[in-house]
Amino acid sequence: WLGLAGRVAIVTGAAGGIGSAIAAELAGAGAAVGVLDLDGAAAEAVAAGLRAQGAKAAAAACDTTNEASIAAALAATRAALGDADILVNNAGILRPGPLSEIPIAQWNALMAVNLTGYLACAQAVRPQMLARGGGALVHIASIAATNPQPRSGAYSPSKAGVAMLSRQIAYEWGPDRIRSNVVSPGLIRTPLSEAFYQAPGVLERRSEMVPAGRVGTPKDIADAVTFLASPRAAYVNGAELLVDGGLDQV
Ligand code: NAD
Repeated sequence: WLGLAGRVAIVTGAAGGIGSAIAAELAGAGAAVGVLDLDGAAAEAVAAGLRAQGAKAAAAACDTTNEASIAAALAATRAALGDADILVNNAGILRPGPLSEIPIAQWNALMAVNLTGYLACAQAVRPQMLARGGGALVHIASIAATNPQPRSGAYSPSKAGVAMLSRQIAYEWGPDRIRSNVVSPGLIRTPLSEAFYQAPGVLERRSEMVPAGRVGTPKDIADAVTFLASPRAAYVNGAELLVDGGLDQV
């Protein structure tokens, strides 16, 4: 239905909570998946799991803040799977802290992963997409892109940057048949959110605020990403899809 057979997708941060679900969903829809993560061994474990289910998958260690590392990872996935026509920019970090106290070095380190790394990966994969006659970028932002959140001094601005980066790419690369869209998750249970809401039960109590009445799952995000990456979204370019159970309306 989604028309992803024969497509090649790259997912960054693909060993994490949301990234591994995205990799699994894209593979389940028929795409070959390049599994990239800072943690190379964890990426290999995810790729091995996909291959065990009959999918085509290749792993590569990749630090999205390092251009040489990105180039090497994309060369490895290209050798294994062919040119990519889908990139999911998902690798992200959250370093809790208010703007009044955040060291500038920490701000820069967060921006390097959450924003600059998204552009670096998009630039690096662009020649492969052009060789394929076009492509689809999906960037994971957050509801923090539009609404300030507690203890998210650097995180919220980084995600707002992602939202605009995607629209600028949509504008500049649309004529090359490369689409660029954003999925903005709300409250999703992953290692990242569990670390942020450390105390047991806090995630559950926060879920009482969500109109959908529950915390989201990585698969909720993966379903939206898979749609935007697919030819079913052929005329969707420069969009942001909130996947938050209605939390942003509260
Ligand atoms: P996670 O911590 O489970 O996974 C993040 C993954 O990114 C990890 O595997 C980590 O190794 C990898 N990573 C970190 N730095 C990297 C780098 N420099 N290069 C390559 N890989 C790197 O987090 P998650 O919750 O799955 O988050 C995935 C994305 O979703 C992030 O962009 C995050 O900001 C966003 N998000 C999450 C939530 C939530 O509630 N969990 C909400 C909104 C947005």
